[in-house]
Amino acid sequence: MVNKKIQEEEQQLFQLYNRFPLVLDHGEGVYLYDTDGKKYLDFAAGIAVMSLGYQNKELEESLTEQIKKLCHTSNLFYHENGGAAAEALNRVSGMDHVFFTNSGTEAIEGALKTARKYAALKGNGRFEIIAMEDSFHGRSMGALSVTGTAAYREPFEPLIPGVRFARFNDLDSVKANITDKTCAILLEPLQGEGGIHPATQGFMEGIRALCDEQDILMICDEIQCGMGRTGNMFAWQEYGVRPDILTMAKAIGNGIPVGAFAVTEQVAAHSMKPGDHGTTYGGNPLACMAVKKVVEIFEKDKIVEHVREIAPYLTKRLDELVEETDCVTERRGKGLIQGIVVTKPAGEVINRAIEEGLLIISAKGNVLRFVPPLIIEKEHIDEMIEKLKHALL
Ligand SMILES: *Cc1c(COP(=O)(O)O)cnc(C)c1O
Repeated sequence: MVNKKIQEEEQQLFQLYNRFPLVLDHGEGVYLYDTDGKKYLDFAAGIAVMSLGYQNKELEESLTEQIKKLCHTSNLFYHENGGAAAEALNRVSGMDHVFFTNSGTEAIEGALKTARKYAALKGNGRFEIIAMEDSFHGRSMGALSVTGTAAYREPFEPLIPGVRFARFNDLDSVKANITDKTCAILLEPLQGEGGIHPATQGFMEGIRALCDEQDILMICDEIQCGMGRTGNMFAWQEYGVRPDILTMAKAIGNGIPVGAFAVTEQVAAHSMKPGDHGTTYGGNPLACMAVKKVVEIFEKDKIVEHVREIAPYLTKRLDELVEETDCVTERRGKGLIQGIVVTKPAGEVINRAIEEGLLIISAKGNVLRFVPPLIIEKEHIDEMIEKLKHALL
């Protein structure tokens, strides 16, 4: 049990989270252990971050070496990990140039600024951004402005002007929101927080076509769905619809805080220039070592292929659950980012799962979300389903 000292210390934090009642101590593979030594099967992965699981030796060793050598330079000085990480990320994301940030939210900020600057250089007076209902892009003032949940935005208004919300997977709704002031359309190819909703092929293609016709930038937020999770290195690749700007974070550092926004050659040449943007920590040698190594391990260990191999089994087991269980009504998602809609309060099921030794999280619309480390095997899926069945009783 949590002792008094831990409880008192915890109260020193600004209490902005409803946390689950356990104190995590360490992880190993796809399991986490709390301070009492209780073991949990982890189908949350620190919110889709720990894709390589815990204690990946190769990653740990390179990070340890880097800590001993150099952690920080500021961006006034180049270090070799910066270019190496950029090269690795561009290779797998299909983009041309990358800027490293400290978080997903900051990647979104950079993407929005890039779109505004692109329009400013054209001198066409455009500044409006179309974002999607039920989207999630972060909690800073800019990222919040484009997040499609009114309850998150309202207490902090006025936010940045010029944002319109269209219905996800509804091209007519996007069209209806385009004006002669639109500079960018922002979407997640698979909405994570919003309830595990993949974009349709027609929606992705339709947005690309609208953007091409009207010189609007397409921004894909793959902070959650990117880096192998959907069964493609990045979700856009499955659609064959390349964005002009791509945001990344979560899994690209496997636990080291790092985000990135990447652009095409065309956008790089006609948008932000030195002096327009910056960060003190962003892209430091430690974060860049993490990105470089994570990409290398993904390639060497064929993580994407593994996701493709294992994911149909998760789909099958979840579909069975929908069939068999009254309080489970629908399965959604693909690869190793899936969800089920439940009719019992999701929070209660999650707390029951914790008792059973299983960590899962929720998403909007009373959805239980499954975003495990990508290294899970069939046996872990079976174990998860067993524990989940108990939690759903
Ligand atoms: C988590 C998330 C963000 C915000 O990233 P942070 O690292 O928490 O700032 C933005 N967009 C999507 C799709 C996310 O899932």
